[in-house]
Amino acid sequence: MHDEPIDPFNGDPADPAAGLDDPGDDATPDPLTDVERQDVLEDLADLEIYQALLAPIGVRGLVIECEDCREPHYFDWDLLRGNLRHLLNSGRPRVHEPAYDPDPDHYVTWDYARGYADGVHDTLTEGTEDEPGTPTATD
Ligand SMILES: [Zn+2]
Repeated sequence: MHDEPIDPFNGDPADPAAGLDDPGDDATPDPLTDVERQDVLEDLADLEIYQALLAPIGVRGLVIECEDCREPHYFDWDLLRGNLRHLLNSGRPRVHEPAYDPDPDHYVTWDYARGYADGVHDTLTEGTEDEPGTPTATD
């Protein structure tokens, strides 16, 4: 059972830490910056949560809109994990290796997974059946 808090801003492209500094040095021994490395680690952690929540309801992985191909790629959970680990180790994203003959019905977007996880998290945290959006005026 996972019990770590889920940060709703995880993976947010508007993350203020994302564009801190461009070292402009392609000879650095460590290909990933600390920030990038942290992002990948957080993605891996998210992935564990998403798989734990979504796999039991039939979701096999995530669909990612590819900017290069301009078409969706379907990645199984294991593929996603492998790609992120590869990125962590080599500093380079893997070449496209989408799932074989995927059924789109069984894949959701990263945003959907995040929203789903947030919803489950809220339910577990509040333990009530209040309407969504009800303020928790505690201060
Ligand atoms: Zn592609």
